Amino acid sequence: MMQVRKRLCGLLALVLCVGLVLPVHATSIDDAKQKAQELENKKQTAEGEKAALTQQLTEIVKKMQDTESKISEKEDEINKKAAELIDAKNDENDQYESMKKRIRYMYENGNTQFIEILCKSKNISDFLNNAEYISTISQYDRDMLTEFQDIVKSVEKQEKDLQAQYAELEKLQKDLESNKNTLSTLVANKEVEISSLDGELGDAKAKIAELEAAAAEAQRKREEMAAAAAAASKATAASSPVMVSQVSANVSGSGTFSHPCPGYTCVSSDYGYRVQPLPGATARHDGVDFAAPTGTPVYAAEAGTVTHVGWFGTGGQAVIINHGNGMVTWYLHLSAFSVSQGQRVSRGENVGYVGTTGNSTGPHLHFQVNVNGTPVSPWNFIK
Ligand SMILES: [Zn+2]
Repeated sequence: MMQVRKRLCGLLALVLCVGLVLPVHATSIDDAKQKAQELENKKQTAEGEKAALTQQLTEIVKKMQDTESKISEKEDEINKKAAELIDAKNDENDQYESMKKRIRYMYENGNTQFIEILCKSKNISDFLNNAEYISTISQYDRDMLTEFQDIVKSVEKQEKDLQAQYAELEKLQKDLESNKNTLSTLVANKEVEISSLDGELGDAKAKIAELEAAAAEAQRKREEMAAAAAAASKATAASSPVMVSQVSANVSGSGTFSHPCPGYTCVSSDYGYRVQPLPGATARHDGVDFAAPTGTPVYAAEAGTVTHVGWFGTGGQAVIINHGNGMVTWYLHLSAFSVSQGQRVSRGENVGYVGTTGNSTGPHLHFQVNVNGTPVSPWNFIK
């Protein structure tokens, strides 16, 4: 009995300890889950940012491709214009050359002024400026020269414009290149951040798994303890009489007290001095033993208050009723109870069942009457 109780206490302590440990685990798991969720959110944000940056990068790369093809077109245009300029300059020069021939012809026919101007002039424009006032130069030559010069000027201007556009495109491309580099760096940084978050997330998930495993183990242990405690408690209950529901009251006999075990008139040991007492028992017998099978109902001899229900030393499981005026009755060696301590009972009310608990050799009811604490013969009260 004591051993069982000690084991029970140990089990209960363990159950309590496991119970205390569990909420800590739960909190840790919640914390870990919250942390993982935060990391997950951060990662999603970073991935969103990376996607936006990558989108921008893609747009810039596309713009760069567009600009590249525009630059290429511009180069073609510039090359064409350069060829055009060469042609225009050739035309201008051809005109100059043929004009010089005509001037030389004029010189050979006596006009010396032209050849001087021609020799002093560095180029055709210079010549035209010098010859501007010379009215004798043929109108045809003047017109042709002016026309060719205008074409050269026009082509030169066009070429210059193209070069300016080319420079703008190149500047644009350079800016795009710079943007692209910046964005590439940002994307790379985002990738590092995401990779780092992935690592942290992996750690957090591993931690959750670890905590959950620990919690499951603790829960398993707790259930194991609870089952063991329940089994131990059941074992203890089995060794003591259980509470059984009452059978209906039975008032019997014509004495002052109703008979506690009606119909069982076989007295296995009477009140007074007995011949062969049990070892350890006194020779004097303080009650009357009624032989009856285990489970036979036992009834209150008189109305009163139940003052004891449970183990009562050598008397085994017992019910004691106080009837007032110094009158107390004992019902010993019971197998089961149907009343609780403190309960008010009426005469003939079922209080328990015959058994053989305590110092007993077989199922019987020991019925005892005490007057002011001294046992008296029950036969004075029951008939
Ligand atoms: Zn007895």
